[in-house]
Amino acid sequence: MLQPHLLLFSTIPQASIEALRRNFTVHEVYKAEDREALIRETAPEVEAVIGYGAGVRVDADLIDRLPKLKIISTVSVGYDAIDVVHAAQKGIAVTNTPDVLTEEVADLTVALLLATVRELPAADRYLREGKWLKGPYPFSRATMKGRKVGILGLGRIGKAVAARLQPFGVSIAYHGRRQQSDVPYRYYGDLVEMAREVDTLVSLAPGGAETKAICNRAVFEALGADGIFVNVGRGSTVDEPALIEALRDGVILSAGLDVFADEPRVPQALIDLPNTVLLPHVGSASVATRAAMAELAVANLIAWREGRPLLTPVVL
Ligand code: NDP
Repeated sequence: MLQPHLLLFSTIPQASIEALRRNFTVHEVYKAEDREALIRETAPEVEAVIGYGAGVRVDADLIDRLPKLKIISTVSVGYDAIDVVHAAQKGIAVTNTPDVLTEEVADLTVALLLATVRELPAADRYLREGKWLKGPYPFSRATMKGRKVGILGLGRIGKAVAARLQPFGVSIAYHGRRQQSDVPYRYYGDLVEMAREVDTLVSLAPGGAETKAICNRAVFEALGADGIFVNVGRGSTVDEPALIEALRDGVILSAGLDVFADEPRVPQALIDLPNTVLLPHVGSASVATRAAMAELAVANLIAWREGRPLLTPVVL
């Protein structure tokens, strides 16, 4: 039987690749020496696309170059790298991988917050560099005790982070486009207003035009000199030059960042600053969780292939 052609843009576990091969003619773009040539040669027949990560953009141009495209499956919960509006206009389905990564990303977010507050990477470097032999590591300027946390984007992951933070005895507030009736946390309709009331801003907001650079100078000024900013959502939500200035000038205390505006390129200024904890976008990146994400992304494609309802479609 003829199998639909599929472009695989990024590496996924072997078991998932084999599941794909049983259902599709798989073109492994990420392995190709000349990726452009592979896309050009296969474009007329391609009906499905799967991929994730930096550099995998399914924009209007790519969508238009694939005239038979029916489904885009991203191995991520965020779908800001896909022109979902253009896809919808052309009747192309988009699926993502919600829920299976929620707990993993929430764990990472809390770990990054703690690492930033208590300066764990700097303390680790201090020991490795032999400095402890000359004297103790300076007390961390910040403490978790009594922190007031504002969550930007109280969705699946934001709620899992809030649940993890409750036993720390910190206060929790949130900002989103609408107030949620079923959560016990204080709602702020205005991000700057929330930043003024808290000292810890944890962002789990999605990327895209609507959230572009919403964490800006005004937000950092409102957060204040004891302020800690943690971003595990998307780098595009941050005005990075404004963040760098705020960190350099003591407008806020420190930042823990898993995501950046132009990944994997991270501004040297952020790297040079002593008051940042920087991670290479590893929020969901455990073997187990990445495998679960790949399985779900592949299951969506197989459901499409078999004419069954999609498991986790992106609904606009
Ligand atoms: P959800 O859709 O469940 O939550 C997103 C939240 O963001 C919602 O509460 C929504 O609230 C809020 N939001 C959306 N648009 C805006 C806006 N314009 N202004 C303010 N708030 C907004 O998604 P998840 O919790 O599953 O994932 C959240 C994001 O985390 C992903 O989109 C992705 O970017 C990021 N992520 C990062 C990972 C990493 O490795 N670093 C891994 C996984 C996810 P409301 O609708 O009320 O505005």
